[in-house]
Amino acid sequence: MKWPYENAVGATETLSCDVLVLGGGIAGCWAAIAAARKGASVVLLEKGATMRSGSAGSGCDHWESAATNPGSTVSPEELTAAVLDDQDGYNNGISHYIESREGYDRILDLERFGGKVRDTADEFAGARFRDEATKFLYAYDDRARTTLRVWGTTFKPALYRECRRLGVKALDRTAATSLLVSEAGGVRRGAGATAVNARTGKFLVCRAKTTVLCMSRPARIWLFHPDLVGLSEFRPPQCVGNGHAMGWRAGLDFTMMEKSVPAEFSAAGRSFPPYSTGNNHNTWFPATIVDADGREVPYLDRDGRELRTYEERFQPAPGQKFFLMGGGVDAPKYAYRGPEVPDFGELLERGYRPPFYADLSRLPELERRAIWGLMVGQEGKTQVPVLAEFTGRGFDPAKHRLQSYGSGWKSASFLPQERQLFGLPGGLLHDWDLRTCLEGVYAAGDQLFASNCMGHAAATGHYAGRHAADAARATDLPAYDEAEAAREQARVLAPLGSDGDLGWKELNMGIAKAMQLYCGDRKHEETLRQGLALLGEYEREQVPQLHCDNPHDLMRTLETIDVLAVSQLILHASLARRSSSRALCFDRVDYPEVDPEADRKFFTIRREGGEVRTGALPLDFHGDLAANYARHNRADGEDAR
Ligand SMILES: Cc1cc2nc3c(=O)[nH]c(=O)nc-3n(C[C@H](O)[C@H](O)[C@H](O)COP(=O)(O)OP(=O)(O)OC[C@H]3O[C@@H](n4cnc5c(N)ncnc54)[C@H](O)[C@@H]3O)c2cc1C
Repeated sequence: MKWPYENAVGATETLSCDVLVLGGGIAGCWAAIAAARKGASVVLLEKGATMRSGSAGSGCDHWESAATNPGSTVSPEELTAAVLDDQDGYNNGISHYIESREGYDRILDLERFGGKVRDTADEFAGARFRDEATKFLYAYDDRARTTLRVWGTTFKPALYRECRRLGVKALDRTAATSLLVSEAGGVRRGAGATAVNARTGKFLVCRAKTTVLCMSRPARIWLFHPDLVGLSEFRPPQCVGNGHAMGWRAGLDFTMMEKSVPAEFSAAGRSFPPYSTGNNHNTWFPATIVDADGREVPYLDRDGRELRTYEERFQPAPGQKFFLMGGGVDAPKYAYRGPEVPDFGELLERGYRPPFYADLSRLPELERRAIWGLMVGQEGKTQVPVLAEFTGRGFDPAKHRLQSYGSGWKSASFLPQERQLFGLPGGLLHDWDLRTCLEGVYAAGDQLFASNCMGHAAATGHYAGRHAADAARATDLPAYDEAEAAREQARVLAPLGSDGDLGWKELNMGIAKAMQLYCGDRKHEETLRQGLALLGEYEREQVPQLHCDNPHDLMRTLETIDVLAVSQLILHASLARRSSSRALCFDRVDYPEVDPEADRKFFTIRREGGEVRTGALPLDFHGDLAANYARHNRADGEDAR
């Protein structure tokens, strides 16, 4: 087929702006909006189409960061303390405090931009979970009321419209490839980024006073199947950690990159589409789970106490002020323990007969509709393939049950060495301005370490955008190294029409296999080093053999080169921690001691002049949350609004 777009391979365009935002997902759009509101000229580069790109492009069903909404009984300080403690301290105090302080402001933004966040049509009038005065619908903990049920399919178009209204120059189908770095008087600072158009092949040099990285988190590291990348993958398959790879090459600090969790949703033919099978988590909470004879599997609270009534599912355990539900699923202490807690064997011993099902017919009608119709429907990727498709084929939740495969919400079984960066994984290290260790370069959303969820991405995006705009005002446009940009252009375009015979899919499969073999569930110095040696060989011998025929495949090819870089980063980070850790799901068989006091810290890692440098930070390096927040923001709160 003839390539339907202009051929601009070999052409270069140069732009400049005050604030450059890389990635037009939730964090990127808010960073652009906040910077533009401060009068900065803003360019936003997005690999897909900003209107619908990113994890939330097709929707989201809950906003768990509304600690300051009028119905909440939990303060930002309490919520942040709980999420930190939930992860034994291996969590991001700065970003989650920002989320807790500003997440509700961002949902009000969305409403102003035209997103739907309240039950304005009174579809749920009289429901237990609805506040009649505000028309907010709450999810999960009835008393805490920090989480809102929302109409997330309306969000990305609303954000995109606001970006355009504010004059943000959003360049779609434009994949960022590297950070421009200027060096003057021994000081390195960000000077913008390079990118390539995924349709025309045109190379872009975008100069900027400050840059905000919002390219989400890595994927395709342990699990990749060349033909099965679509619907069953939880995250968008194009979010592979380009931003991490760019940061690694530019010498930015990372932390927690040794953390990986057993895979849950992923491609590689393993999973059903997310939320398409019977379960009781997040979107499906608090669905009733029954066995083949229709016998209910009881809910248990945090302490394992069996709950007798349906209403108790929305209450914290005795002695607990509130429970957490939603994002950090790795090793929860505050979360609800649902019917999935007894394992399969235990259920059989207790006389249950498989298979198990989610049975919404036993719920009150408004609760059933809030799950099937609101949350299944608004949650990412459920509107068409789950709600519309199943309904079209006759599924009626008032009458039918939906089968659950495996226990709980996991819709498939994975091998132990099949890992994922899920929940709260590692990422970029930053300070209280959300600035990385490179002057002029900020980060937000799922690119930050221990990050997760919409409200977090929105709040940190807005925060990073306004701090980047303030810094840009005090800066001249930095010079950049033109020779370096020319070398980057050559690197980026090399696979296009090359003499090589290796496709990106083969290389990605090879990397995933290597990571399973050498950096799986049980890690050892020798195998980690073997993994590094093998990936080094791929870099030297396979990458130059990569070949692609068009700019779209070029983008996939560049993604795979970045998957390789991120895999190397993970191997180095795994070598740096010489003990095991429960919260990090990190098992070093050669260092089996679990969480020894001396290692209860963040190990940091960066590349400097071809060498890998590691360091350490105390788990509470964020300091006093409220005091530090106050020091870095206007006292009247006007910035945040
Ligand atoms: C299926 C699903 C359901 C979810 N449901 C909820 C929910 O109900 N509630 C909740 O709180 N959270 C939910 N989440 C999580 C939430 O969506 C994410 O935490 C949030 O979107 C992260 O925002 P972000 O901007 O960091 O990343 P994203 O929104 O994923 O955006 C990253 C953007 O960067 C772009 N990009 C990547 N690389 C490049 C590059 N090299 N150049 C240019 N652009 C690039 C991508 O195309 C993408 O648009 C869900 C996630 C998924 C996947």
